[in-house]
Amino acid sequence: MKKGIHPDYKKVKVVCTTCGNEFESGSILDEVRVDTCSNCHPFYTGKQKHGKTAGRVERFNQRYGLNKDKE
Ligand SMILES: [Zn+2]
Repeated sequence: MKKGIHPDYKKVKVVCTTCGNEFESGSILDEVRVDTCSNCHPFYTGKQKHGKTAGRVERFNQRYGLNKDKE
């Protein structure tokens, strides 16, 4: 792992708490946990397995200003 390239925005391990999938993404955090990912999200799988999973991710995105135009 290289260090010091992007001090504030770095590659982190993202862990999906629903399916256990792990993948890399960019974040200022050391580790990110999400309730849905591209592996198990209904949008990708076409299956509705869990109803109330969007909240935590949406709050996470709002906190870091990723979905400002979604209000
Ligand atoms: Zn998942």
